[in-house]
Amino acid sequence: MERKKAILVIGGAAGIGKDYVKNRAARGDSVIFTDLNKEAGEALVNELALKGKEATFFQHDVTDWENTKGIINKVIKQFGRIDTLVHSAGITVSKSFEELTFPTWKKTISVNLTGLFYAVKAVIPEMLHHKGGNIIIIGSGSAITGTGGGVHYAASKGGAFGLMRAIASKYSHLGIKINLVAPRVIQTEMLDRLYPTEESLEKLVQKIPVRKIGTLSDTTNAINFLASKESDFIQGQVLLIDGGRTFL
Ligand code: NAD
Repeated sequence: MERKKAILVIGGAAGIGKDYVKNRAARGDSVIFTDLNKEAGEALVNELALKGKEATFFQHDVTDWENTKGIINKVIKQFGRIDTLVHSAGITVSKSFEELTFPTWKKTISVNLTGLFYAVKAVIPEMLHHKGGNIIIIGSGSAITGTGGGVHYAASKGGAFGLMRAIASKYSHLGIKINLVAPRVIQTEMLDRLYPTEESLEKLVQKIPVRKIGTLSDTTNAINFLASKESDFIQGQVLLIDGGRTFL
């Protein structure tokens, strides 16, 4: 019998990460997810249990190295290895450059970039030990366009892009597969906050070449593809999930 894959989703209690957790739990993988939001994490475990599905949750602050290392160690102890890491934890504090304060800059870089670095730093030795592993980072189209979320957000996501490329260039030949999914205009709470009225949303839709907003299934499908063998020749890439919004 084929071994169950162990999938770790960091930032899995809401939005893009949560949809992926639900998708993999429904397929019967060993799903472990972490999040700062304990209540939301436990609620998701209960929601899955009601459907006869299972997932393991750890409360986690990605900005805390000891916390990250401790969780990775626990996961390895319990599940033997980590086949796939999906890093979805992130924050957006929309501020103009003029309004941007040093604490907001530091916090955004700390969660979106340093938190990602800690996770990758902790997981790579384990993946190398098992001669392979798959890392999928949820980045953002703002690393490419510089728009949406402000200078601090674009800088943090640009950093995630550089980190992804650097790891790909260093470890591809040792079996580490790493790619980045860059969502834009996906129906999430973040989008609701940015476009609160029907009128503002319709204006946005008219700017998207495919004339619709993306769904969480669109990001989950992309993550599933990058986590699968079908994409094994795709390495160090950015996959924009944006309905053509960025380049058309
Ligand atoms: P979300 O807010 O729904 O989910 C993010 C999760 O990260 C939350 O559950 C939150 O509790 C968790 N988190 C925040 N700080 C944390 C910390 N310090 N430690 C651990 N967990 C923490 O957001 P989302 O829309 O699902 O976005 C997921 C990722 O995708 C983010 O990195 C975001 O920047 C990126 N993204 C989203 C969109 C979009 O359209 N929603 C677009 C571009 C990029």
